[in-house]
Amino acid sequence: MHIELTEMLRCPVPHQDEFLVLSTGEMSGRMVLSGVVGCPVCHREYEIVNGVVDFRGRGTGHEGRVSGSGSTRPPSLAPRPVEAQTLQALLDLSGPGGFVVLLGAATRHAVGLAALMGGIHFIGVNPPADAEELPILSLLKTDTGIPLRQAMARGVVVGPDAAMAPWLAEAHRVLLRGRRYVLEHDAVALPEGVTRLAAAEGLVVGEKR
Ligand SMILES: [Zn+2]
Repeated sequence: MHIELTEMLRCPVPHQDEFLVLSTGEMSGRMVLSGVVGCPVCHREYEIVNGVVDFRGRGTGHEGRVSGSGSTRPPSLAPRPVEAQTLQALLDLSGPGGFVVLLGAATRHAVGLAALMGGIHFIGVNPPADAEELPILSLLKTDTGIPLRQAMARGVVVGPDAAMAPWLAEAHRVLLRGRRYVLEHDAVALPEGVTRLAAAEGLVVGEKR
């Protein structure tokens, strides 16, 4: 996880929003390879292992770890062969800076998009098993909601394996108003609050109202 992502994290347990506290272990440049992210509200702790922040289960706070396995996440599907240039155009991003959230199999687009859009950091949520974190890509695992603050993303891409509840609505929650929402599934409706702009080649693009 990129160290500057810390202030964008949010505890997935439903309670008031507070900044999470990072205790770093091993670092590689600006990337945190090992450490613990703690919640000051519910006191749960989420481990960073091999650079990936694991928000699954209930953490290891005072209520104890409820589950570290048994995730109900569906198996990842290979994304359709979407050109990075097509996605870049749909996301309509101008200028560097900020974060783009990639859900599920959409994490695979990070490298192609980063080559076209410098200075943007990508966040892969529930990435495919073979995804590796990179200086341009942080990886988060979760089984409840997206562990990111509201309205922090300049764009979201929802992979075909994530085109379901609660991820569709969660992707809307983390997106900034007026920014683009790309769904890699044309048989699933965009969530409430997203205006449909276009659909082509299995992709649907909308904008957050
Ligand atoms: Zn918490």
